[in-house]
Amino acid sequence: MTEEKKVGLLIVYTGNGKGKTTASLGMCVRAVGYDWQICIIQFVKGSWKYGELEGVKKLQPNVELNVIGEGFVGIVDDDKSFEVHRQAAKNGVALALEKIKSNRYQLIILDELNVACDLGLVSEEELESIVEARQPDQNLVITGRNATDWLIDKADLVTEMKEIKHPFQQGILAQKGIDW
Ligand code: ATP
Ligand code: MG
Repeated sequence: MTEEKKVGLLIVYTGNGKGKTTASLGMCVRAVGYDWQICIIQFVKGSWKYGELEGVKKLQPNVELNVIGEGFVGIVDDDKSFEVHRQAAKNGVALALEKIKSNRYQLIILDELNVACDLGLVSEEELESIVEARQPDQNLVITGRNATDWLIDKADLVTEMKEIKHPFQQGILAQKGIDW
């Protein structure tokens, strides 16, 4: 029989389907039920919308949300240089290390860190330093498309959200309460 033992897990939500950030928000709700302390670091500024920003406020004082980053990289109105995005990502890595090492949180969520890695804003070495800093009893969640093979190998739990259908394919735009 498996003994119930309290361990921290390294959890990865990746893939091209919808639900990665919402899965991590679901974990927050569950963790707040036990009065855990939770730290979220959002690696892409602006990726969180009104609904979740306001929703997380209702989970106070348990959830701390930190926004770093300089917005979406390389799309529409992005006029910032790679270096500006790189510096923001570096600040995010430093903050993640500080929060992990503080040992104040039972759950740490690094939202869209995989995307920052994929874009070359966070190096493999930086990702490794974050993962290696995790304490054995801490739960660390990393979300975003295109998780690296190294991270997938290292993680205890990996779920790939796979798009089967998305309303966008029918021309239905993002919906209040569902997407934002
Ligand atoms: P969510 O925040 O809804 O959990 P996600 O974190 O899995 O989504 P991201 O890759 O971070 O997805 O994309 C963020 C936004 O893009 C969300 O508003 C989501 O609705 C939308 N989106 C996610 N997956 C798809 C898809 N397969 N096709 C079109 N839009 C998508
Ligand atoms: Mg997301």
